[in-house]
Amino acid sequence: MNCVFCDIAAGRRQAAIVYEDEQVVAFHDINPQAPVHVLVIPRAHIPGPLAVEAPHEALAGHMLAVAGQVAQELGIASDGYRLVLNQGTMGGQSVFHLHLHLLGGRRMRWPPG
Ligand code: 5GP
Ligand code: ZN
Repeated sequence: MNCVFCDIAAGRRQAAIVYEDEQVVAFHDINPQAPVHVLVIPRAHIPGPLAVEAPHEALAGHMLAVAGQVAQELGIASDGYRLVLNQGTMGGQSVFHLHLHLLGGRRMRWPPG
């Protein structure tokens, strides 16, 4: 399967990794939309948020916990940050491997565009 995030998780594609363990990898987005823009992905290929099912619940929770830990380490936790999951074309998803966006370092607007 041709998947850029599987390639990053497997070390076949370079990425600026900030955290990794057996379950997840976190790395800087190649086209950052904020001063801090990190993606947290599962090593397993899950196509997107809609494909997250009961067996993935612990993994999904771990992704949230890792995002918080990375936010602390990158110094954006106390000011606040945004977590985003895009699903499908109308949701703005462009890479069809589940990824949690961690955005911070500037004031976020609401509603999102
Ligand atoms: P989506 O639009 O699917 O929610 O987010 C995909 C994100 O992945 C985008 O922000 C895009 O910049 C990022 N991205 C796509 N390809 C690569 C890559 O090869 N390396 C890194 N680090 N980020 C990527
Ligand atoms: Zn993948």
